[in-house]
Amino acid sequence: MDKIVMKTPLVEMDGDEMTRILWKMIKDELILPYIDLKTVYYDLGLKNRNETDDKITVESAEATKKYGVAVKCATITPNAARVKEYNLKEMWKSPNGTIRAMLDGTVFRAPIVVKGIEPVVKNWKKPIIIARHAYGDVYKAVEMKIPSAGKAELVFTDENGNESRELIHNFTGAGIIQGQHNICSSIKSFARSCFSYALDLKQTLWFATKDTISKKYDHTFKDIFNEIYEKEYKEKFSNAGIEYFYTLIDDAVARVMKSEGGFIWACKNYDGDVFSDMISSAFGSLAMMTSVLVSPSGIYEYEAAHGTVQRHYYKYLKGEETSTNSVATIFAWTGALRKRGELDNIPELCTYADKLEKACIKTIEDGKMTKDLALITEIKNPTVLNSMQFIKAIKDTFESM
Ligand code: NAP
Ligand code: MG
Repeated sequence: MDKIVMKTPLVEMDGDEMTRILWKMIKDELILPYIDLKTVYYDLGLKNRNETDDKITVESAEATKKYGVAVKCATITPNAARVKEYNLKEMWKSPNGTIRAMLDGTVFRAPIVVKGIEPVVKNWKKPIIIARHAYGDVYKAVEMKIPSAGKAELVFTDENGNESRELIHNFTGAGIIQGQHNICSSIKSFARSCFSYALDLKQTLWFATKDTISKKYDHTFKDIFNEIYEKEYKEKFSNAGIEYFYTLIDDAVARVMKSEGGFIWACKNYDGDVFSDMISSAFGSLAMMTSVLVSPSGIYEYEAAHGTVQRHYYKYLKGEETSTNSVATIFAWTGALRKRGELDNIPELCTYADKLEKACIKTIEDGKMTKDLALITEIKNPTVLNSMQFIKAIKDTFESM
């Protein structure tokens, strides 16, 4: 069989620990035999980030801007323990944070739905994708403990020294205050990323805030989304047969529970933090959750939502058998290859991606899976495979299709 030929290379960002081991297995078994793979390779493994003073991360993000589509392996975000373990020059920042800031992007997290791993919410039939605004609000808040009676105010001083003030509270005793902010340009980028991605997937977009209570702060989010929708996307949405739906956050939560899924839910920073964990655990497993960073200009970086699976890696290093689930990492590759296929007009690449995803799902539905899924599946007597056996089983399914 001839290998599928690519036109533009993918930006390939290699990573750390167990996912780095899976990365190579996936390429060797599931990609290289079928595709004449073109990538520009960046090693974001912690050792290389340290050796390059983390310049490699910046270079990989720049390459992503240039080529438009990247696929990323999970990477270690260093903490004190990692500084010691890897003898680091510095506690380098999270690569995902660096890349997200450079692409000004929004992260969309989607569960992979498989029969036999049923969502806890029984009416959810299709994935619910969470888009989390990754800037500001409580994550950039300043806070104060108020020790005693007194007046707290919000003060804004413009560049000419003019002040405007708003009373927060006249305290008669001890209390607490918090100052949050956000930036209109960041909210606009968030809105555009959400609208473009909804169009891309042809899925309806939901957005919700508490604008009835927060008449300036949350209302600004609502207004910006609405303005951009009306001006730039309304017609495109209507042509695609999808809609943009705004409601109050408490109403959204109630509706999500009763929905059958199959839409994108845009969330403010805190809501996205909380609801993405709720959605991923309700759908089953972190190992079955994909993640894509989408910039407002339509640049894509695909990855798995889970980390480097450190505990499995230490077992692997000791020569012990591991049963690490590679599905989310495979879907990162298929997502990126399909997008490359769409942009470069290579239908075979899209077909290959669709087929490989179906092969992953079918393998699990046929009862062959890794340990994490065997623990939660409703399929009777599943066959528990190790990391490599599972990838080989997917390959067998793929070849038979
Ligand atoms: P993790 O790697 O996601 O793993 C947490 C636990 O979840 C694992 O110990 C494992 O449970 C289970 N798990 C996750 N993915 C799995 C898979 N594919 N197959 C089977 N089980 C899976 O999170 P972590 O241990 O908190 O973090 C490890 C490193 O990853 C950290 O250095 C962190 O900085 C990094 N991280 C990177 C990213 C990223 O690059 N996007 C995201 C998150 C974390 P059992 O051990 O019980 O089997
Ligand atoms: Mg969280």
